[in-house]
Amino acid sequence: MSALSLNRRTLLAAGAITAVTPSLTSAETPFPSAEEATDVVVIGAGGAGLAAAIMAQSHGARTLVLEKMGEIGGNTRLADAFNAVDPKAQQQIGVTDSPEKHAQQMLESGSWCADPRLVRTVAYGAPVTLEWLKTCGVEFDPGVYQVYGSLWPRTHSPRAPLVSGYIEPLAARCRALGVDIRTHHKVLRIVRENDRAPVTGVVVQKADGTEAVIEARRAVIVTSGGFSANAALVSRFDPRLQSLQTTNMPGATGDLIAPLEDIGAATVGMEFFQLLPGSATDGRFIGAISPVENMILVNRWGQRFVAEDQPGTVVTDAVLAQPGRLAFPILDADGYAAMRPLSRAAFDGALTRGDAFSAATLPELASRLQIPAETLLRTVET
Ligand SMILES: Cc1cc2nc3c(=O)[nH]c(=O)nc-3n(C[C@H](O)[C@H](O)[C@H](O)COP(=O)(O)OP(=O)(O)OC[C@H]3O[C@@H](n4cnc5c(N)ncnc54)[C@H](O)[C@@H]3O)c2cc1C
Repeated sequence: MSALSLNRRTLLAAGAITAVTPSLTSAETPFPSAEEATDVVVIGAGGAGLAAAIMAQSHGARTLVLEKMGEIGGNTRLADAFNAVDPKAQQQIGVTDSPEKHAQQMLESGSWCADPRLVRTVAYGAPVTLEWLKTCGVEFDPGVYQVYGSLWPRTHSPRAPLVSGYIEPLAARCRALGVDIRTHHKVLRIVRENDRAPVTGVVVQKADGTEAVIEARRAVIVTSGGFSANAALVSRFDPRLQSLQTTNMPGATGDLIAPLEDIGAATVGMEFFQLLPGSATDGRFIGAISPVENMILVNRWGQRFVAEDQPGTVVTDAVLAQPGRLAFPILDADGYAAMRPLSRAAFDGALTRGDAFSAATLPELASRLQIPAETLLRTVET
């Protein structure tokens, strides 16, 4: 394999972050009478929402979680890898690490576009969060590894399959504490009388289509996730992604972004998206392709075009510059054997469905992928 290397995108190093000026229209909307009241309303029952609900309820606040979809979990249902410094596990494989190194590598992975203060909050908080998740009943496989897209072996994976890994234990903890979780409850607006007044509640659309106002006496916590499943919004912020499919859950549509801007919230970094190899061309989830040392990416001409262990943003930009914005991750038998059990299970499913192919020889693989065999052979041999 040749050693391709790319320069960092110094263009973005200054951090292209935009703030949207809020348009305050809520003053025109009088506070409607509330149908019910609680202390804290959490919007969205993904990992962040369930964690927030556990904390709020444990501190004595009566907490209601509103989830617009028919099932809880959001994109967190699909998440596996949890990156955190873990000296005990890392020492066993001779790896030294620190939260500051984690923070620096996160910044590097994101081509220095992220806010260092927020990145440090994540990196320094990750070991504590890992232990907290364990107290909530999340069980992790022993040891650490380096997941594709990260730069150091500090990845932990739950023992249970994807959905059960984080969401089921967190939801069980919520229910044990008495948190009220309601599905098919879509929050339409946040109630704030004017730009100097506190937020006082939410307007929600219930399963039967009727609307209700719920008063939140102490706080409204918005954990409604991202918007990668909203193709129109995605291509507004990055036109290169127009008509690109996504592995995101269908609820990731960002429908609260505009209502939040209406009550004075600012948005930042909307133009940054993470793309990783791991989906069929129609967006079906194939699974993470890891570890990276056993994988190459080729374009539809059978050529390698990027060093696969570069930060995710670099790989993303390189894939988007290829013909048809298409790249094929190719693994050999060692790569398949080295896959994590969860990744391998997802990958096996893709093989069965015909979203991924196996072949005994490179010419056979080239024929199945409809790419030039000679070029693929040359690419693999060099
Ligand atoms: C295929 C895939 C694999 C991933 N793998 C990993 C991984 O291995 N490791 C990792 O760290 N990250 C991974 N991620 C990213 C990770 O899943 C997300 O960063 C994380 O789940 C975000 O959590 P969240 O709680 O903020 O949002 P979500 O889990 O998406 O939850 C948001 C919830 O809010 C709900 N909601 C939205 N709008 C409303 C509304 N108006 N009213 C009520 N409810 C609403 C949504 O339906 C959803 O249930 C992956 C993402 C994808 C798509």
